[in-house]
Amino acid sequence: MSEGYQGLDPCVHCGFCLPACPTYLATGDENESPRGRIVLMRALERGDLLPTDKHLQHHLDNCLGCLGCEPVCPSGVAYGQGLSSARHTLRESNESSLTQQALLAIFAAPQLWRPLFTLARWLRATTLPRLFAGPGRVGFAWGMLAASSGLRRPRRRLSYQPHGPPSNQDDPTVALFRGCVMDTLFPHVHGATQRVLEVNGFRVVDVPGQQCCGALHAHAGATEEARRLARWNVAAFATGVDYIAVDSAGCGALLKDYGQLLQTAPAAALAASVRDVSELLAEAGPRTGAALPMRVAYDAPCHLHHAQGVVDAPLAILRAIPELDVRLPAGHEHCCGSAGLYSLDHPALARQILHDKMAAILPHEPDAIVTGNPGCLMQLGAGSIAAGRRIATVHPVELLDESYRRAGWYRLSH
Ligand code: SF4
Ligand code: SF4
Repeated sequence: MSEGYQGLDPCVHCGFCLPACPTYLATGDENESPRGRIVLMRALERGDLLPTDKHLQHHLDNCLGCLGCEPVCPSGVAYGQGLSSARHTLRESNESSLTQQALLAIFAAPQLWRPLFTLARWLRATTLPRLFAGPGRVGFAWGMLAASSGLRRPRRRLSYQPHGPPSNQDDPTVALFRGCVMDTLFPHVHGATQRVLEVNGFRVVDVPGQQCCGALHAHAGATEEARRLARWNVAAFATGVDYIAVDSAGCGALLKDYGQLLQTAPAAALAASVRDVSELLAEAGPRTGAALPMRVAYDAPCHLHHAQGVVDAPLAILRAIPELDVRLPAGHEHCCGSAGLYSLDHPALARQILHDKMAAILPHEPDAIVTGNPGCLMQLGAGSIAAGRRIATVHPVELLDESYRRAGWYRLSH
């Protein structure tokens, strides 16, 4: 992993990255900035600071890993590579927090996360999460669960299938990456993803045997666990499809990095076929739906905007919806403080970062906040409840799906 430090070589300490860093903006502390952390990482690499140094651990641990510092860097510093190496080094010498250990163990084992998140989904179906959601730490956790329910639909359980010309054998095949949180708490987003892809000429196929992508483990420096999960997924997708569609930005960023993570040809082939669902739809058009006369605030997930460089495609989805008033609040490309396990592991700083985010969004008085990552959907939704507002948080494909439903692209299935 030591080669990752080389990505930091071009740093000239100019400081252009500081205004793009949410932890620096929240604290004003140079050690909480990309430039400050690069100095710490280089000291770790040289051995001037030991991996057991508490000051070093604290500041590297506080990094969101959002990569907001990379695109603004004129020297092309690969901050994320350096951070991965440093976190790997720290993890080899230190015990991680009990919260982190427990969460990583859960996400590594489908026999744990699937029943746990399924129970959470059942709990969400009661009124309890909405009742107990609020500003305190416990209330915020309830708010996160309440915010995962997506676009409000009719109470009756309805199932829609696209109708239109039958799919052609020449249409590109797409397998949906199901993931863990997305598959259990956000099946409504998976359903919307499948339908809007089919309306836009893709043949969606099911690929069994998938696992959690391993992103949370990779970000925490648990590289071997991330590799183990990645090998499972490479084996599952070995049958071959034209594309793997991902509707979670965090998963997509790591799946696109599987070649680097595993250093094998099959992993590189999988990575090359991965697309965020917005990329596929933007490339296909997408087809225009019916009007949705509402105002939405778009917030870009860091792992889509910065890590994958997918900036315009989600907006192309929203532009396909007539009468949708799309707002881009100031700092919409900055991290919301969710960042994988960050909001659970660093609740105080995560809430401080979220506070600034909500201050930029709320004056737009949106009917919904739109973002393409499960953690961001939950963090922003809980943030709006904590701020005394109950604004729905939705994935872009949910809005397109609703627009298609109103346009008559679907028939009801029984
Ligand atoms: S990371 Fe880039 S922008 Fe930040 S201080 Fe170094 S060279 Fe400047
Ligand atoms: S990854 Fe995000 S939080 Fe970490 S230094 Fe870069 S901008 Fe700041």
